[in-house]
Amino acid sequence: MAHRGADLESSIDEVAAGWRAARPERQSRRHLDRADFDLLRDAGLLKVVAPEDAGGYWQGVEPSARRMCEVYRRLASADPSVALVSCMHAAVVCYWLASPDPSQPAWEDQRRAVFASAAAGEQWGTITSEPGSGGDISRTRATSRPVEAAPFIAGPSYAVTGDKHFGSGSGVTDRMITTAIPDDDPEPTIFVLDVRDRPWDGSAGLTLTAEWDGVGMAATQSHAMRLDDAPAVRLAWKGGLDPISRAASPFVALLFTAVILGVLDEAIATARRQLGKKAESLRPYEQVEWARADSDHWVAVQAYEGALRAVEAGDPLPAFRAALRAKQAVAELAETALLRVTRVVGGGSFSGRSPFAHWFEDVRALGFLRPPWALASDVLLATSFE
Ligand SMILES: Cc1cc2nc3c(=O)[nH]c(=O)nc-3n(C[C@H](O)[C@H](O)[C@H](O)COP(=O)(O)OP(=O)(O)OC[C@H]3O[C@@H](n4cnc5c(N)ncnc54)[C@H](O)[C@@H]3O)c2cc1C
Repeated sequence: MAHRGADLESSIDEVAAGWRAARPERQSRRHLDRADFDLLRDAGLLKVVAPEDAGGYWQGVEPSARRMCEVYRRLASADPSVALVSCMHAAVVCYWLASPDPSQPAWEDQRRAVFASAAAGEQWGTITSEPGSGGDISRTRATSRPVEAAPFIAGPSYAVTGDKHFGSGSGVTDRMITTAIPDDDPEPTIFVLDVRDRPWDGSAGLTLTAEWDGVGMAATQSHAMRLDDAPAVRLAWKGGLDPISRAASPFVALLFTAVILGVLDEAIATARRQLGKKAESLRPYEQVEWARADSDHWVAVQAYEGALRAVEAGDPLPAFRAALRAKQAVAELAETALLRVTRVVGGGSFSGRSPFAHWFEDVRALGFLRPPWALASDVLLATSFE
């Protein structure tokens, strides 16, 4: 099937080549550069998750998931932090994409509004995680109350209060989702926050409580924020968080996996070039470690491919299981492969001037991304009996 926006991939390759050429400077960054996101928007990346009838390129999870994941894999090989922040857009919009329901007109109105926002080039992100929740979005302690205010996107207006952390892309996003328990409902749900140009000094509902200081994904601006009556719009979906998050979850897990696989692709390719020049002089230990790293990479690619094929096949339970298994497997394989590579390329890989030092920490993000290690393990165990 022909893709709309057929030149997206070549634009992305061009952007990635520029970023790769500036790698040492980019790897030392601790902040995002809005110009990077403007380039991605101009390339049409934000539209890929808006359906074609909304002015975007989305043809459905099955046909479009691979395209999206491959684009983020390529971007991550050039700049992991920007790729991770950028992929949050797709991961968030997917909540609306993956759960059409014509029997809920308000939900369908909101879906159209979210897709129009993505097609118009608004960047979405998420600041859902809460200290103490272990990455489980249903364990939110944030609260929310209905307010009389014109909604900034279709849906009921609310004000949200609570402590949040890990808000990747803070400062470059226009809309971010979060979770809270509504005053008028015992069940937690999702809210959209209007964060564009909103100050972080507490004067308009957001207070920066901790600037991101991650040793990996260092430039993602995954800040912690206090929300105090932050203006929000409630998810228009009726039917609980579980079906919505479950429908989105295979694609979300695959997006995160694609980003880390892109980092691993680049690390292995770079090591291959460096080590290939002295292959004859590698000691036996180095030969074994390199061969095992190379194999770990191959297995990681197979896990990712297997999960992509399961998602493309369209059967929800196998897709859910496969994507989560691939995420866990690639998280482990990427960590061990990078560890082996650093042992072979040598002590210089401990220096901040070595790309491997950064990649080593960047790949560790995958296991902590939603669902983080322990939660993913619980879900895998539970679904193993379904
Ligand atoms: C690189 C990266 C990017 C991420 N991007 C996002 C994102 O964009 N949006 C998003 O929503 N999430 C994001 N996450 C978070 C992720 O989805 C998980 O929520 C998170 O990794 C879970 O962390 P945790 O298991 O330590 O549990 P958590 O419970 O989230 O964190 C526990 C930590 O909070 C501290 N803490 C503070 N107060 C308490 C308390 N009262 N009880 C217990 N612990 C407390 C503890 O010291 C501990 O370190 C990101 C994570 C990473 C690594």
